[in-house]
Amino acid sequence: MNDGTEHQSSTMIDDSGIDREEDKCRSYCKGIVPLSARMEKWMTDLCEDDKALSRLVERFGSPLNLVNPKTFERNVDRFRESASRHDIDFEVYFARKANKCLAFVNAAHELKCGVDTASLQECEQVISSGLPADKVICTAAIKTDELVRFCVAHEVVMAIDNPCELEIVSREAMANGKQVNIALRVGGFKFGGEHLKTRFGFDVNELIPFIESNAAFNANNCPLVVGLHFHLDGYCHQQRVAAIQQCLPLIDELRNHGHPIKFLDMGGGIPMSYLDDARQWDLFWLEHELAILGQREPVTYLNHGLGLLNVDGKVAGVRKSYPFFQPLVQTDWLESIFSSPFDSGTIAEAIRSRRLQLRCEPGRSILDGSGMTVARVEFCKQHRDGHWLVGLAMNHTQCRTSSVDFMVDPIVVKVADDDGESSGRQQSTGPEAEGFLVGAYCTESELIFKRRMRFPKGVTRGDLVIIPNTAGYFMHFLESRSHQFPLAKNVVVDQGSNISFSLDNIEHSELCEGK
Ligand SMILES: *Cc1c(COP(=O)(O)O)cnc(C)c1O
Repeated sequence: MNDGTEHQSSTMIDDSGIDREEDKCRSYCKGIVPLSARMEKWMTDLCEDDKALSRLVERFGSPLNLVNPKTFERNVDRFRESASRHDIDFEVYFARKANKCLAFVNAAHELKCGVDTASLQECEQVISSGLPADKVICTAAIKTDELVRFCVAHEVVMAIDNPCELEIVSREAMANGKQVNIALRVGGFKFGGEHLKTRFGFDVNELIPFIESNAAFNANNCPLVVGLHFHLDGYCHQQRVAAIQQCLPLIDELRNHGHPIKFLDMGGGIPMSYLDDARQWDLFWLEHELAILGQREPVTYLNHGLGLLNVDGKVAGVRKSYPFFQPLVQTDWLESIFSSPFDSGTIAEAIRSRRLQLRCEPGRSILDGSGMTVARVEFCKQHRDGHWLVGLAMNHTQCRTSSVDFMVDPIVVKVADDDGESSGRQQSTGPEAEGFLVGAYCTESELIFKRRMRFPKGVTRGDLVIIPNTAGYFMHFLESRSHQFPLAKNVVVDQGSNISFSLDNIEHSELCEGK
């Protein structure tokens, strides 16, 4: 766990002893099986300031993404500190696809850390923001001629996935009379008696024969392999250990072939927790399974399975959600890799003795605590079945990844009168309401959260719903402009002596793109 003062762990299963500010702000909305958000102080402070939040939403619209690069900087520092405890040359390359805001690119620039880019546009924006080329890597899954030309011209190292890419890069380099530096993406590592399945990279067993036989590597001015790269699915640290253990001998061999390997890049997938309390996560799934079996009232809309289903009275299927609570996360996870064995020593020692740089490419976890989404309540309607539907001025693509649901309780900030009296009873649920947050797309499935929520003090039109910790993927990865809704605005929170807010520069570059 992060051991910073902002995240003391707590028990939130019962409501006794609510005294902390974050507990108070979390008390207006809870899942009927609660999943309490881990909060950063800047988030709690803003949730307490309904006036400031209302002004922001009035000015920039709903929903609104708030991002805080200071927290991102803290996260980079923590990763670096844990590597320096092991005395290894280590660098962070922020995986930019996890959040498009340029505030994070600028923060990376200031910290002299790197950025991992996954498209021509990401790469162009990062280079034109002034980041030096050696702090940029391009891992785009599809590399068009245009992208390759850009990377060669600006000396951005590309992680090469396949022979076809290699040929295009060699051709482009030849045409420019340049020798290019590349990294090779590797996959198919042996783990637990099997090979890890992937659609990416060169198979770990075929890399050396490929290099020995490939014409591109035997020509004059051939591309120089300066790094090996992998990025694994999932969050298993033992799989990373296995991958590193299998890459190190390859690096030795490649160096013997004359390739000046400088770095080993272990990709992203550093896990994080969105919840304060492991027991809430376990309890949720326990209760959900009972609901699936019909042994308690549903905890999700129409008893949605979230990946599970009832087959002949038994729970089948797999959870289709991000593990919002994980026991081993962030620097603890990293350190368990550094101190894993290699030969007669540790991985850290093997990296050190080879004078290698170890790189990682965190997206989600480096953005931990660095953003939240704010949306305005537009209606409250009671269904015949008794539950309430609370309509938000946002759609589900504005808080979605491949995870089936965002499994963290949102925060309701009371802005309107509690009972909606001033604006009429029609506009409020009244106290002790239960129901669902729904969005602006015109489909039956358009729920912002599939979990059923409880609103002990009710919700009123004009209240604000805060979705905490959305910076990693949730804001941008799947956002769509269906129905011609404009995309959410992105506003940077600057925690100076006086907190201030400004539009992120990405807003300006997106305006230019339609020219
Ligand atoms: C997506 C991706 C990352 C970031 O992964 P996280 O799980 O967000 O840390 C890093 N590297 C590559 C190549 C990726 O595709």
